[in-house]
Amino acid sequence: MKILSVNAGSSSLKFTLIELPSREVLASGLFEKIGLADSMYTIKFNGQKIKKEANLVDHSVAVSKLIDELLENNIVASLNEIEGVGHRILHGGSEFTQSLILDEDVLERISKYNELGPLHNPANIMGVKAFMKVLPDVKNVGVFDTTFHQTMDEKEFLYPVPYDWYEKYSVRKYGFHGTSHRFINKTISEYLGRNDLKVISCHIGNGGSLCAINGGKVVDTTMGFTPLAGIMMGTRSGDIDPSIIPFVMKKTGMTAEEVVNELNKKSGLLGISGISSDSRDVEMAAEEGNEKAILAQEMYAQKIANYIAMYNNLLNGADVITLTAGVGENSKTMRKMIVDRIQSLGVKIDAAKNDFRGEFRLISADDSKIPVYVVPTNEELMIALDTMDLIS
Ligand code: ADP
Repeated sequence: MKILSVNAGSSSLKFTLIELPSREVLASGLFEKIGLADSMYTIKFNGQKIKKEANLVDHSVAVSKLIDELLENNIVASLNEIEGVGHRILHGGSEFTQSLILDEDVLERISKYNELGPLHNPANIMGVKAFMKVLPDVKNVGVFDTTFHQTMDEKEFLYPVPYDWYEKYSVRKYGFHGTSHRFINKTISEYLGRNDLKVISCHIGNGGSLCAINGGKVVDTTMGFTPLAGIMMGTRSGDIDPSIIPFVMKKTGMTAEEVVNELNKKSGLLGISGISSDSRDVEMAAEEGNEKAILAQEMYAQKIANYIAMYNNLLNGADVITLTAGVGENSKTMRKMIVDRIQSLGVKIDAAKNDFRGEFRLISADDSKIPVYVVPTNEELMIALDTMDLIS
């Protein structure tokens, strides 16, 4: 069965065509600058790469182009081979607790949450509508970043603020990266042959979040009402004292939106190091002795370690810790810095085992009290698997 896994942004559309159940990636690609003058796309398949400019006036045109390319390059012999399209959707509020088949009515309900995810949700919906127009006979499935976290208890998802903020305005913790955390939990649970695992899943990429999972149910996660909360990230601050916002507004004359924009785009690794949001650049500068880069790295590792310790307590002892995403999968330096900061939990890294990138591996020492694994994430595959389950 061939399934398209899609992530539509306001001016982009990323896709992966996956064969299931073999999990083989048949093609992947990116349509960029949709609606702009210099739009273009790249498609990779069978060891080849196509890169073309095209007049992609909207998402439907991009989807039509994608279909044409799949046919012209014999990636699919006919459109009937594409049995389903799975879409990443950022926000399903408290309403959507599972992935589901999309129709006009469901899209209308999802659009109620646009104000909670204004940068992503309208674009995600636009992507679905484009596929509905171009491939009217193919089923579309919505897979949300928020649904996995919907098992959180009130104690965890409420903020200690006036209760009517929650009742009137839906102010609560939603959590994000749910598709990745769910994939990691599934992968490590299958590998260890257990469905009752207590997992601390650390998704550390440009964005980052941790998730405490008990037997497949989320107990807590670090991102909150928006993806700005939690650990320090590439450009995001993570948790800060909210009083800083009006204080900086007064000092600088910025609006609240402008200050929050700086917390989203100019903070984190970038804000502290002054060098880059990319952990590779920060690592290189730190190796050369740049003090701000060293400080940024230490802060980054410490915030993650602090949450791991907190979640170990919340889970009353974790069975396993997993690291994933760009930094977790690739940076042995950051992995070591994090694990070295949770020694109070009896966790120890094995330097030799940690010397690799981009694979599923155990990196903790034999006598580590909690095993630590690197588990590469695959949100596209999780979306395709959900789609297969729902359309079958
Ligand atoms: P996104 O949140 O955009 O999906 P990714 O999961 O792709 O982000 O992670 C991007 C981060 O991963 C960047 O900070 C990048 O520097 C880091 N990264 C990727 N490869 C390496 C590497 N070899 N060493 C250190 N960091 C890496």
